[in-house]
Amino acid sequence: MDVEAPERPTIDSGRRGSAPRSRHTSLFVGIAIAVFALLFGSIATASAKDDHHHPSPPNPSATPVHGDAIPNVTLVENQIKAYYSDTLVGTDHVPSATGNYAKEMAKIEKAADAYLASSKARHPRGVKGKVKPAVLFDVDDTTLNTYNYEIFSGFSYNPVTNAEYVNDARFPAVPGMPSLVNWAAKKGYTVFFLTGRPEAQRAGTVTNLVKVGYQVPTDANHLYLKQATPPSYLHCAAVTTCTTIEYKSGTRAHIESLGYDIVGNFGDQFSDLSGGYGDRTFKLPNPMYYLP
Ligand SMILES: [Mg+2]
Repeated sequence: MDVEAPERPTIDSGRRGSAPRSRHTSLFVGIAIAVFALLFGSIATASAKDDHHHPSPPNPSATPVHGDAIPNVTLVENQIKAYYSDTLVGTDHVPSATGNYAKEMAKIEKAADAYLASSKARHPRGVKGKVKPAVLFDVDDTTLNTYNYEIFSGFSYNPVTNAEYVNDARFPAVPGMPSLVNWAAKKGYTVFFLTGRPEAQRAGTVTNLVKVGYQVPTDANHLYLKQATPPSYLHCAAVTTCTTIEYKSGTRAHIESLGYDIVGNFGDQFSDLSGGYGDRTFKLPNPMYYLP
């Protein structure tokens, strides 16, 4: 489902609103806006409900006909800064604990808390003791927030400068996530981390997770990073031929083959959540970048 598509005509109509037009055109535009408002309202509601179960990526191949229908990059960056409620800590720009990002995360975490407290999640497949309940978390912008790096880099990823942030363990926690993760572990869930970061960044990743309050095991059996040579269970000839969805869903399949049921899979990218091996998915907000 393309959740962005309904917005385009609205923006377009707004643009056209400043140009002279006939009464019939005004009426037509008015009706069109009303129809889109209804349509977008229902799509937005459906999307919010469906996020947990059927993540729906936007359509990145869409080619707009009108340039003014494309969100303006400068304005989008300003919206992102306002959404995170940009706060300076030392020299780093980080999200505010009271901004809309933190508020949205709190809502998602509340829903996750309720789900993970349910006996359905705690006793997957209804067979007590036979299948071990687990929860799985991506790292960047799921457990650690990378807004400081995006501001530093001007929203332009560079593997060299990004590695400096990673190895310096410079990222704050995603608001509320250490509490959710630690609470899930106390409830009896085995916690797994699954990231596209390379194995070479294990030390920095572990240091960062521990530093911001994740009190769960982060050894190689619980924190999965991308190996230079893919393990045999991934069925990928080389690390470069394995798509993110293949890497992530293949690793989840491997974890489940060890006797776990991943009852909750948390990620900020649709590619974290596609491909199965997760009873329920939790899509976390990330307007900063898109990873297919
Ligand atoms: Mg991520």
